[in-house]
Amino acid sequence: MLNVQNITFSYTKKSADTPVLNNLNFSVNRGEHVSIIGESGSGKSTLLKVIYGEYDLNEGQIFWDDTEILGPKYNLVVGYDFMKNVAQEFDLMPFITVEENIGKHLSNFFPKEKKERVQELLEVVELEDFAKTKVKTLSGGQKQRVALARALANQPEIILLDEPFSHIDNFHKQSLRRSVFNYLKEKNIACIVATHDSEDVLAYADRMIVLHDSKIIANKSPQELYKNPQIPLTASFFGEFNLINDQIIYAHQLQRVEKSDLKIKVYRNYFKGHYYLIEGRTDDDIIFFENDSPLDLNQEICLKVAK
Ligand code: ADP
Ligand code: MG
Repeated sequence: MLNVQNITFSYTKKSADTPVLNNLNFSVNRGEHVSIIGESGSGKSTLLKVIYGEYDLNEGQIFWDDTEILGPKYNLVVGYDFMKNVAQEFDLMPFITVEENIGKHLSNFFPKEKKERVQELLEVVELEDFAKTKVKTLSGGQKQRVALARALANQPEIILLDEPFSHIDNFHKQSLRRSVFNYLKEKNIACIVATHDSEDVLAYADRMIVLHDSKIIANKSPQELYKNPQIPLTASFFGEFNLINDQIIYAHQLQRVEKSDLKIKVYRNYFKGHYYLIEGRTDDDIIFFENDSPLDLNQEICLKVAK
């Protein structure tokens, strides 16, 4: 189990009064999938790097079971065998092939096992057709997948993923996400995933940690946070919402009725696939709701919150 205990971190002594991470506490069980969400600059990448032992903490301690994760001041070589990290900047060996990169840290004493393992990982990241391709000729998304496979090669107990699918095109994202996250669950590998893509989170995360103003403002299951986001920042992660009488109401929670106190004029229609998001205006507010079909502009509509 990962235990993050009262950690505080700032990049420089000078900035210690306003640390990037301020007194964080949480734990991650073996095999658990935890998402870290938060706006750009909220410290997601910093948190992953600190957990990996890339920096020395100002305060606090981090443990994986009984092993304390130490920063560079106390540890000559950054990192531990049980933990792997796939950072936003993945450093691969450009002049060797995809399979050589993936197998780089695998023992050569067992060539058959090594070959099978590399093949298995190529399948997990859906790069079978690129085994013999030199990494330098790959796209950003393909490189990201090689970095993922390489991190999994010597099966870690916990893996840290920083926006793991950010470079992957939409054609491959869904299936790759399923493949990787299901693989991690199957092998009981704990993972911490920094992301701003709600699709990385909803179907896969056991818990989500929301970072804001250097602190953890929520640490709950996606289901709980979706139902009760508490603050607009969290709600905005899940989709379009309105603040009506200080209540967070998702766009899909509003339905058309004959008569109600909430009257809007249709301002714009946005095609969303299986529905339209409608932007309505009251005298002093903007209201979003969903409808099966587009609505005539300037039409007056009454809405109420569906039970
Ligand atoms: P996120 O990943 O959530 O976008 P980061 O962890 O990258 O956020 O950044 C958090 C804060 O730390 C930002 O204010 C950023 O400018 C700062 N920061 C990130 N990396 C460094 C660094 N190497 N040195 C100094 N400040 C940094
Ligand atoms: Mg980041």
